[in-house]
Amino acid sequence: MGLRHVLFLWILVNNKSKSSSDKDVILNILSVLTDLLSLGTGRRIHYVISKGGTEALLQALAIAARTEPPDHSILLPLLRLLARVGQRDRKFGLKVQKAEATDIILGLARRNLSHHLYLTHCLWVLRVCASNVTTGTTLGTNGTMELLFKVITPYSKRHVRTVRAAIEALAALLKSKSNSRRAVNKGYLGGLLRLYQDWHHHDVSNNYIYIRRGLLLCLKHITNIQLGRETFLGSLGMEILFTSVQDCLSCKNLDPIITTATQILRKCYPKEPLPVATLRSSYSFPLPGIAKSENPYEGSEGKWLNGDYESDGEEETEKDLDNEDVESKEEDYDLETDVNKLKTRPVLDRPEEELGQYEAMCPELSHNFQEFESEPEEEKTLEDKTESSAPFHFIPNATSVKHANYRWRKQSATEMGPDPKEKDFKVPLQNLTKKEKCRWHPIDEKRDIIKAAQDAGSCEDEDRAKSHAITLRPLPNEAAWYKKMFYSECEYSINPSPGGRLESSDVATNLLEKHQGDIPFHSPRIYIAKAKCVKSIPDYKDLAFPDFWGHQSPPYSKPMLERKYGVQRDKVLDDVRRLIQPDDVIGRTVFDLDEPSHSSPRLPGSLTFFSKFESGNLRKAIQVREFEYDLIMNADVNSNQHHQWFYFEVRDMKLAVPYRFNVINCEKFNSQFNYGMQLVIYSVKEALQGRPRWLRAGYDICYYKNHYCCSAAAGGGMSGKCYYTLTFSIKFPHNDDVCYLAYHYPYTYSAMMAHLDILEQNRNPKKVYWRQQTLCQTLGGNPCPLLTITAMPESKKRDDLEQFYNRPYVFLMARVHPGESNASWVMKGTLEFLVSSDPIADLLRKCFIFKIVPMLNPDGVINGNHRCSLSGDDLNRQWLTPNSQVHPTIYHAKGLLYYLRSIGRAPLVFCDYHGHSQKKNVFLYGCSIKETLWQAGCMVDTAVITEDVGYRTLPKILDKVAPAFVMNSCSFLVEKSRESTARVVVWREIGVLRSYTMESTYCGCSHGLYKGLQLGTQELEEMGSKLCLGLLILHLKSLPCSKKLMAQAALLLDLEEEITDRAQRSCSNSSLETDDEPPCVEEIDYNTDSSSDGERDFSELDQEIQECLSWAEGETEDEGLTTGQSCSSKALRGLYISSQPTPNSTALPLRSTALGVYSGFESSPA
Ligand SMILES: [Zn+2]
Repeated sequence: MGLRHVLFLWILVNNKSKSSSDKDVILNILSVLTDLLSLGTGRRIHYVISKGGTEALLQALAIAARTEPPDHSILLPLLRLLARVGQRDRKFGLKVQKAEATDIILGLARRNLSHHLYLTHCLWVLRVCASNVTTGTTLGTNGTMELLFKVITPYSKRHVRTVRAAIEALAALLKSKSNSRRAVNKGYLGGLLRLYQDWHHHDVSNNYIYIRRGLLLCLKHITNIQLGRETFLGSLGMEILFTSVQDCLSCKNLDPIITTATQILRKCYPKEPLPVATLRSSYSFPLPGIAKSENPYEGSEGKWLNGDYESDGEEETEKDLDNEDVESKEEDYDLETDVNKLKTRPVLDRPEEELGQYEAMCPELSHNFQEFESEPEEEKTLEDKTESSAPFHFIPNATSVKHANYRWRKQSATEMGPDPKEKDFKVPLQNLTKKEKCRWHPIDEKRDIIKAAQDAGSCEDEDRAKSHAITLRPLPNEAAWYKKMFYSECEYSINPSPGGRLESSDVATNLLEKHQGDIPFHSPRIYIAKAKCVKSIPDYKDLAFPDFWGHQSPPYSKPMLERKYGVQRDKVLDDVRRLIQPDDVIGRTVFDLDEPSHSSPRLPGSLTFFSKFESGNLRKAIQVREFEYDLIMNADVNSNQHHQWFYFEVRDMKLAVPYRFNVINCEKFNSQFNYGMQLVIYSVKEALQGRPRWLRAGYDICYYKNHYCCSAAAGGGMSGKCYYTLTFSIKFPHNDDVCYLAYHYPYTYSAMMAHLDILEQNRNPKKVYWRQQTLCQTLGGNPCPLLTITAMPESKKRDDLEQFYNRPYVFLMARVHPGESNASWVMKGTLEFLVSSDPIADLLRKCFIFKIVPMLNPDGVINGNHRCSLSGDDLNRQWLTPNSQVHPTIYHAKGLLYYLRSIGRAPLVFCDYHGHSQKKNVFLYGCSIKETLWQAGCMVDTAVITEDVGYRTLPKILDKVAPAFVMNSCSFLVEKSRESTARVVVWREIGVLRSYTMESTYCGCSHGLYKGLQLGTQELEEMGSKLCLGLLILHLKSLPCSKKLMAQAALLLDLEEEITDRAQRSCSNSSLETDDEPPCVEEIDYNTDSSSDGERDFSELDQEIQECLSWAEGETEDEGLTTGQSCSSKALRGLYISSQPTPNSTALPLRSTALGVYSGFESSPA
């Protein structure tokens, strides 16, 4: 008999026979129904629901309950069916209320208080009813909780099933806030705590995990309300749960208990304001006198800073601020759904005559190349120099350095080299000196420095004192090591200090004598010269060593960090311990940007912190325990938010001791730190031993919501905002070292300026046309450089000059978001490739004129911002209407693009380099009308809208040629929330079909050659050079080329082969998923209120019901101790031997076979 027939029969019998005369028929139907439903999965039950099965069952229940005395042979299977069907029926609550069944079930339960089998059945149905909040509330007002509290007993081996059913029903009831309030007022919270304690203490063999966890679930729901949390704290709930969890930690079976208890502890941990006087940045910047509509100090991000601090604890809404990469679900989907809006090109945002000024930024178009005639002497020497510095022209290519063992070789715990015990530390230095000689001419050096100083003449003029002040941060002062470093090696130093005492500036001088040009495209001397001219709000006087000395990528990549099971839980419990055992907490501020008196002299037994240097942004460091520190990042200038980037110095550490750091004012709701990403560390001692590098480091890393929030006082009205903790542990490689820790590989403004100088000097001027101009001055008074790079014309012949002038433009930009230093490394790779002597670069230069703004937000980078400029604005949300005074770099970059368009030279490709903190791989965002409309679910006749799909070509090429790039991560949607980004505005207003944002992960790759590896600077630079290759292929594929060019390209590229080769490689890497992240081993619970407590797991209740059938078999009116015991042990077997079917029994006519695999909460993740 099919399900459909049974159901039909059932409804027939139900409707026709209101008497009990057809009892046998009913029993038989119930039996068949039970069998059918227990055989199948949810699908059959859903079928029953869709055919009115729930209503039929409820109706039958009403009839059966009315008969006197109630016939339990019908009632029990009915209740079981109701429980199973009801939990899958979304409208069960409504149906129950319609049938007025709550009173019936409650009445049945009351009548059967002493009959545990019957009672248990009623409790199951009550639990399912209560999962609907309205029904639950009704049940609460009808005295259900009181009834349940009569059933829930302290520890006892009797009637454990009934107790369990009662607890679970109570937990379901307490999801209703009014029930929770009633429960607290009746004193049930304390009762629940005592019950939990009692079961915890007595259940030494862990036989009743589900009961203990059930009690915790009750507490978890009750503490969703403010009153509940207060009462919980007042009843010493924190202490009780914390202590009990400590007992459970050693036993993995108890994970469900630990997890739930930890959730409650986190939720009830009293909220605290961040330990800062104000959330506003320590740095403020007076904006030029422009009438902004809002308080200029709030920036554009100030809009949401309203409301009261924790005004209503009851409804605790959590504003997870996430104004970066995650889509904001805005109601207004206009742009995304309106073809006309997508298509229209808005009008010029400024008077047309203004565009004239940008002619000067295209000197290449008016250059007459007179110099071809009278080639000056200088040209030759430059040429020579280029020859001699041939090693500089390496093409960053990460793959070339990686051979079979490119993966990280397992190293010792320190992750770095051994302590500098002397042996080979001279070698690298000597090497450096030798190498250096062939690379750098001291005369050039001097000239460079003079030139650099002249370039930045303004700063010299305005504030002479400032520019003198830059010094290198003092180096490690371990005596023996120090002496060796400077006295033995520096005997012939040009400028030995009188009296033998080395000032820190002398240290710098001496170091420079020993170390010049060791790192390609880096020169400490030029760096210092550039850094002197930087204008910062705090007026930096110190240089961070890594920026000065340079970074050389290690010859290996590091895999993503494997997440240790339970790491987040352990950290959270460690945090809770601060509350439980306050005496352990030191709570000493050891660094405070706002009160420098805290910062200086070294406190015994603590680390010393510092961050007042370019891109540094530590605001405060608090020593929590001997080896644990809470860190607070500074907000972006003129803002009170955007904490993500960090960069600071730490010294006075002990060797190999695990230090724990907690960055406690993070804002994003999730982070790649939960998915294998590590921060980076730079050790000065390592650098001086010849390993100058940022390395991925840190372990026990996780990211979770903490108990800090914004107080009204500190937040200036930004209330209720929650914070997240990034926690990590580090073992430093050396004693008394000076180390730098950062969110990602730093790349300062000075580094960029120095880099540009070196590139210019090292190009071949006969081949590379290079112009560095200033796009504009920033708000902070720093020049924002604009580069023009292309090939010199072949000759002065008309044809060649024509070819030169007519090359299409490519417009590249980076670092509008200062925290996205990865973008700068990609840009570095692009620039180095573009000026290199690589024949492909040579060809590429002949194809395009490159306009490049390598750093669109210098002020943000300099002052350690993460997101904004000095105005507190996100500059990549200003492209629609940039203000010439407040957003000069955007205003003029857009102006230049307008100009190019106005002379009919809009770029072929526009690309803005960014970093992405939530995703892996490198990918592009582009713009497509069709894809946007499809995504928005618009019914549009796509035959009517024609769209050039050329925007897909470049990403497709990159997918094949760039190992870090993944086509499947790309998106071509024009979202309303991105309306004012460079990409969308350049697409809509300048009309650039290939307008992209390039996003590079901070973490690593999930596909391709680098799968499983974190990206280093080498891979990022490689990406930059591969983009260049991609552009060349794009040109060859999509633009008409001269035969000559084609022939050259054919020689160089062997295009087809390269592409198919890559294609095969990327194909072999399995299928690409669209999901961002696979689930973690440990379920990541960012919020304290997790809904994932397994309560909705249907199979759990099913299993209980199933098991009960064999129990019911032996049930007698007065349930004996032995029966209860055997039941519970059977139940336990069921829990752990999950796939064992329950033994069949023939005694009961209504039995069925258990087939489902148990997957309740007890089966903890492996
Ligand atoms: Zn960005």
